[in-house]
Amino acid sequence: MKRLGPPQMGTRPVATPIQPSVVYAADGPDHLDDLYEGRAEGFTYSREGHPNATTVAAMIDAMEGATGGVMTSSGMSAVGMAVLAVARAGDHVLGGDQLYGRSLRMLGVELPRLGIETSQFDPTDIASAEAALRPETRAILVEVVSNPTLRVADMEGLTALCRDRGIALIVDNTFTTPRAYRPFDHGADLVVHSVTKLLAGHSDAMLGYVAARDPEVGARLVDAATTWGVTASPFDCWLAERGMLSFDLRFARTTETARRLAAALDAHPAVTRCVYPGLSSHPDHDRAQALLGAATGNMVSFEIAGGRRESAALVAAMGDVAFAPTLGDINTTLSHAATSSHRKMTHDQRVALGMGEGFFRVSVGVEEADGLIATFAAALDQVRGGG
Ligand SMILES: *Cc1c(COP(=O)(O)O)cnc(C)c1O
Repeated sequence: MKRLGPPQMGTRPVATPIQPSVVYAADGPDHLDDLYEGRAEGFTYSREGHPNATTVAAMIDAMEGATGGVMTSSGMSAVGMAVLAVARAGDHVLGGDQLYGRSLRMLGVELPRLGIETSQFDPTDIASAEAALRPETRAILVEVVSNPTLRVADMEGLTALCRDRGIALIVDNTFTTPRAYRPFDHGADLVVHSVTKLLAGHSDAMLGYVAARDPEVGARLVDAATTWGVTASPFDCWLAERGMLSFDLRFARTTETARRLAAALDAHPAVTRCVYPGLSSHPDHDRAQALLGAATGNMVSFEIAGGRRESAALVAAMGDVAFAPTLGDINTTLSHAATSSHRKMTHDQRVALGMGEGFFRVSVGVEEADGLIATFAAALDQVRGGG
């Protein structure tokens, strides 16, 4: 069978079409030369770029105040490309001590295999960063709000430190999103997203984004992502674009519900501790106010007394709320550090980090708020009543 191609149309689609084509035909050798040398607009081979990646990257670029951001196959490949774009064998990379689990594994296992030394520091304490610096420190990787303890990094101190020492500051902005914090506005050098989470927002696209402030570093990012082959698929980009069209609405609604849920959990007798950057009891409340303003986000953590019996009873009583180790879904999800993100640690190590057996994290979704808060209250009543 011979390909007939799309029909000729006098109208244009309102929704962005998916363009799964891996290859693009050029007019001839001169045209291909122009395409590869950047003198003509167009695509050649989808690992090097395709329309759906361009569309969604432009949306995130606009949100972040970035240019030339690259779509990657996952948040983790975006983290990897960010580090590889600025560090090489012999360099040292410093990472926050409560980074996303796989980012910690990249620092602990993968980067050392490439000859890149790494160590960790406490991003809420600038003295801890200063003490960990080495002459060969090339980059600092940090998340603005840590997971699942929701501590807020000293971004002002870290940005100043990196500027003074000529160190690249890489900000994983997945949790905060550009609606709460725009790293480039504050002087960061690279921004990373797991688009899989809040930006795409529907748990159906696996995708990352990485951008650099310096165009030379940006060019290295494009080259590294294309060469390592971690660029994104058209279908995931298409789904992410669709999800992102409602991002602002979802963010506003889930933040408002999270604020209300945090207050309700804080007041519930079965909850021993509720952690939310918008609560005045939060250890970094002032810093959260200064950095994030009212955009305190959709993530709430809390702790109940007891052991596995109580934590299992709470999950069982939560009805439709999915017990799933992810965040940023359109619906509310509940996760449990002890059996998911931090299962490799010992109980004592987790307790030292403030996340014992009864510690839960909620990623608040767009459900109707009163019903959601009532579901939590009823489940907690049941646990407290021993039911
Ligand atoms: C999920 C996550 C990642 C990894 O993203 P994937 O898309 O799952 O590869 C990186 N950083 C943070 C903060 C995350 O939450």
